[in-house]
Amino acid sequence: KKEGRNTYRLYRSEMDLAVQNHLTLETELRTMLDTGDGLFMVYQPLVSRETGLTVSAEALVRWQHPTRGVIPPGEFIPLAERSGLILSLGERVLDNVISDILRWQQQGLEIVPIAINLSAAQFWQSGFVQHVERKLADASICPELITFELTESLLLNKQAQGIEILTHLSELGCRIALDDFGTGYSSLSYLQHIPAHSLKIDRSFIEALDDPNQSSRPIIAAIASMAQELGLTVIAEGVESEEQWAMLGNYAIDTIQGFYTGYPVEADTFSMGLTSQLSQA
Ligand code: C2E
Ligand code: MG
Ligand code: MG
Ligand code: MG
Repeated sequence: KKEGRNTYRLYRSEMDLAVQNHLTLETELRTMLDTGDGLFMVYQPLVSRETGLTVSAEALVRWQHPTRGVIPPGEFIPLAERSGLILSLGERVLDNVISDILRWQQQGLEIVPIAINLSAAQFWQSGFVQHVERKLADASICPELITFELTESLLLNKQAQGIEILTHLSELGCRIALDDFGTGYSSLSYLQHIPAHSLKIDRSFIEALDDPNQSSRPIIAAIASMAQELGLTVIAEGVESEEQWAMLGNYAIDTIQGFYTGYPVEADTFSMGLTSQLSQA
């Protein structure tokens, strides 16, 4: 009985600690977002299966924490979403990508389109498209250089309004990618109504390629061929091995993103890669 009480105590204090850590992290996130210092982007190449060339890159946010090192987005995006900080975080991300693009352009680099992830709150923020339009115009960045990645779940229950926003974004010239595709609840037939340019098959299907007993192969085949019929570029996410790369040659997949073709790297490293690609061409 006595031991039980001690265990309970321990559990309580561990829980308090977790809550405390969480609150601290939220406060630190808030403080960091005031200046934006500590937030930076890494860029992961998207590679053409046919040519092996980098055709685009995804911008992924990182937080250089003063004591904890680099914190991945999986740990602070959900926190930002819950605490209402996601709009200012999204703003910082957009600013960072814009300044990286401007720097690359000043270096005379011919850059590829950059994909930015959107959270639901950003997408549904009123005046979002006009806001993007103004920001890009102020920086003299061509909207064709920006892709917005969003998940199917974001459009759930509000498809008509969502399609309207996507149509405006796409009229502005930005591209739209459906991220983590296949994990949501929507039917495939809804795809024909979404003004998207590309579709990213979720990493879980690629991972399951290694296991012949899993049904991911017919699913990949179906998603890819249907997306292709609809005129969408098909991207496979999370390709980690040569075997997976080779296997994906059996399907209508245009583009590969994953550790096999390139890790996410800092802006300067990414631009060096682009430069050497150009000089080899
Ligand atoms: P996502 O948009 O699906 O991004 C792909 C994630 O998969 C990235 O994780 C990337 O590093 C990882 N990845 C890429 N290739 C491989 C691979 O071959 N194997 C494995 N195991 N992983 C791979 P990351 O950077 O930790 O980002 C996680 C998620 O956080 C993203 O998933 C996205 O949903 C969100 N996120 C990242 N940056 C932003 C941002 O700026 N804004 C918003 N709203 N969300 C972001
Ligand atoms: Mg993404
Ligand atoms: Mg994804
Ligand atoms: Mg994801």
